[in-house]
Amino acid sequence: MRVVVSGGSGFLGSHLCEALLRRGDSVRCLDNFASSSSANVAPLLREPGFECIPCDVTVPFRVSGGVDAVVHLASPASPFDYARLPLETLAAGSQGTENMLRLAVRHRARFVLASTSEVYGDPRVHPQDEDYWGNVNPVGPRSVYDEAKRFAEALTMAYRRSQGTDAGIVRIFNTYGPRMRAHDGRVVSTFIRQALRGEALTLFGDGSQTRSFCYVDDMVRGLVAMIDTHRPGPFNLGNPGERTVRQLAELVLLITGSGSGLRFLPLPVDDPVRRRPVITRAREELDWHPRVPLEEGLRHTVDWFASQPDTLARPRERPAVGRPS
Ligand code: NAD
Repeated sequence: MRVVVSGGSGFLGSHLCEALLRRGDSVRCLDNFASSSSANVAPLLREPGFECIPCDVTVPFRVSGGVDAVVHLASPASPFDYARLPLETLAAGSQGTENMLRLAVRHRARFVLASTSEVYGDPRVHPQDEDYWGNVNPVGPRSVYDEAKRFAEALTMAYRRSQGTDAGIVRIFNTYGPRMRAHDGRVVSTFIRQALRGEALTLFGDGSQTRSFCYVDDMVRGLVAMIDTHRPGPFNLGNPGERTVRQLAELVLLITGSGSGLRFLPLPVDDPVRRRPVITRAREELDWHPRVPLEEGLRHTVDWFASQPDTLARPRERPAVGRPS
């Protein structure tokens, strides 16, 4: 297949590009590096089937040649990034999604939207299946991300219904693994960085809030299954194994052998209390379920961070990419 991956240089995108190349697909990655480094895909540039096109998908762009599938991953995705890039986040979900959908329409290609468990907001229903409509604060600090993804889902379904586009949606739950950024503010990368540097692990509230953590290889298998089907979803993709954030911190301390302590900070606004996906639909319709246990995935991730000591130090501030000045 000839696959276009927006956000292909990011954490999930670079693993997806690799997996697609491995099975013989050709891949064009579109990325403006707003929240990633081109180093993630630098080794892929040697592959004949791979091309990286630097571009912002929220403004019109050109992709030459044939296209069989379009995967829209481009968006600031970590709380730090969407707080730093609020207008860019809304644009990635709206104009960015529409530009990628139009590309799919022009080529009669399969379209896959990477949505998020954040569409459920701070859920009133637990665990969350795809029929739950969510509990999102539309004006809170997280709303730029949550509402952008909800709009992107609506747009995707509107193209499917009105244009007959072969479009589908996956709702991704917390995913972790090698190539996360050490300073992206996500809980797994933060704990591992702090543990490896001998700093106290920072927990919000009392650490009793729960999350479900999926290893990146499992997530990429789910994304590939979504490319290969014509089904619309939405499908929850995530690991139903639910842990408290405190349990995660203790596991990271155990795996790293770190002597770091725990430090408790006030809960951020609208931080979801519980998160766990129901994945029955993905099991039945995509034949997908996660296979990598948390302990094993965390060991791979810790090993990767330990091999990148330079990335653990404080990063230089990244400038915003500049919506209206
Ligand atoms: P990431 O920040 O590593 O990757 C996002 C990529 O999109 C980056 O390479 C960034 O530079 C690029 N990008 C952002 N805006 C762009 C634009 N306007 N034009 C071109 N490129 C742009 O994040 P990730 O974790 O790899 O997330 C990928 C996708 O999966 C995102 O859409 C995110 O919302 C979704 N997702 C991820 C998770 C997770 O746990 N990793 C959970 C839920 C949803």
